[in-house]
Amino acid sequence: MSNYDYDLFVIGAGSGGVRASRMAKIHGAEKVAIAEEYRPGGTCVIRGCVPKKFLVYASEFSKSFKLAEGFGWSVGETAFDWSKLIRNKDDEIGRLSGIYARNLANTGVDLIEDRAELLDAHTIKLVKSGRTVTADKILIAVGGTPFIPDIEGAELGITSNEAFDLEDLPKHIVIAGGGYIACEFAQIFAGLGVDVCQVYRGDTVLRGFDDDIRSTVHEELVRSGVRVITHSVFEKIEDLGEGQKRVHLDNGQHVDADVVMYAIGRVPYVDGLGLDKAGVELDPAGAIKVDAYSKTSVDNIYAVGDVTNRVNLTPVAIREGAAFAATVFDNKPTAYDHNDIASAVFTQPPVGSVGLSEADARKKYAQIDIYKTSFRPMKQSFSNDASRMMMKLVVDGETERVLGVHIVGPDAPEMIQLAGIAVKAGLTKDQYDAACAVHPTSAEELVTMKEKWTPPELKAAE
Ligand code: NDP
Repeated sequence: MSNYDYDLFVIGAGSGGVRASRMAKIHGAEKVAIAEEYRPGGTCVIRGCVPKKFLVYASEFSKSFKLAEGFGWSVGETAFDWSKLIRNKDDEIGRLSGIYARNLANTGVDLIEDRAELLDAHTIKLVKSGRTVTADKILIAVGGTPFIPDIEGAELGITSNEAFDLEDLPKHIVIAGGGYIACEFAQIFAGLGVDVCQVYRGDTVLRGFDDDIRSTVHEELVRSGVRVITHSVFEKIEDLGEGQKRVHLDNGQHVDADVVMYAIGRVPYVDGLGLDKAGVELDPAGAIKVDAYSKTSVDNIYAVGDVTNRVNLTPVAIREGAAFAATVFDNKPTAYDHNDIASAVFTQPPVGSVGLSEADARKKYAQIDIYKTSFRPMKQSFSNDASRMMMKLVVDGETERVLGVHIVGPDAPEMIQLAGIAVKAGLTKDQYDAACAVHPTSAEELVTMKEKWTPPELKAAE
């Protein structure tokens, strides 16, 4: 028996923390507690992936109504009730958060609804109750928080946290950023009839993704009515009164809106956590430094999920949490492999992507073959919706191994889950082609693309 109150104390009941605590218990840890200062579920359930997808569903209907007419439906006049959507979303999130709490209880993990801060490497202060507890092992899984720019009038803006709970649907919104959150919300609001302006400091949104994904999403943002201003950032925000704000940009332009939103990245949520008192080191970006087994600079303290800023996605935090529990409580050292993680961006149309982008593959491999296609999805045949689907395979020309799959179009997130299996398994283009097509689908293109595509600059050099 240890002299500590707990074998494991987890700070943060989000995806990573909950999985880790439950698995630790299942692996035989006797006393496990998890502290949560808000509601069990974390960013994903409470103010991220889950509510975002409800908003995306709501937004997509406006396009579906238009498509339906081509198939003979008379849709008639439509109306949208934001308050009802938010109410239903809140009910569902309450239900899901309850399931998280019940699952913890059923596994025998103590849920402590309080803010936890470290006093030293084994001692935790519970802020609301004033209690102090001790633990042999500590896991930090507190996630991230939106980054707020340091500009005049910054307090007039909101982040995605508040966007989920706006009392009224905005009439005009201006969103800063060109990443996942900015692009997803720009199209959520555009689909709901809001006048949207997106301000991005680069030239094409979604930096880090394959260039064909970026250009397709950028074009679709514009096609869906989003006014995208590039090469520009917010300089200051002015209160015009009566709920109106004016955003001054560094290019001299200004944009007026009733809601101003920042989606310019998230930062590890480490403020006030007492990491310095425990000796836990941070990297230059403010994330907790960990080794391949999620161990921090302190032997008994581990960290998983967004607070470590490795790959900031819910399923990754879950896998890191499970790997931590296997390592520490099941005597099976497990380093989660962060390669070839598939992800989706729920723009409209959405993105699915796994593996290397063309640009990264060209840097790493001597010969790269590209197969790609772009077409109007069949469902749009009877409408004037000109949006396009893009599919691309990045292949190692020497081994024929498919290194990356990149898709923009309806159901891309569903397709990429399966393509992710093939990429992770290291399958070759021949093996893809050996799979018979499923017809008529868009996904069949993944096994029927025959022609190699050569970039114009390489063609000229041939
Ligand atoms: P991202 O890091 O994806 O994007 C941040 C954007 O803001 C980039 O376009 C970046 O520009 C820009 N930016 C950064 N700093 C500044 C600045 N000081 N001034 C102006 N612009 C700036 O962050 P998000 O907030 O969109 O999302 C956070 C994380 O959440 C993502 O990394 C992702 O892991 C996760 N997420 C995942 C989702 C999913 O899986 N579908 C959905 C939503 C979030 P530049 O490109 O030039 O760096």
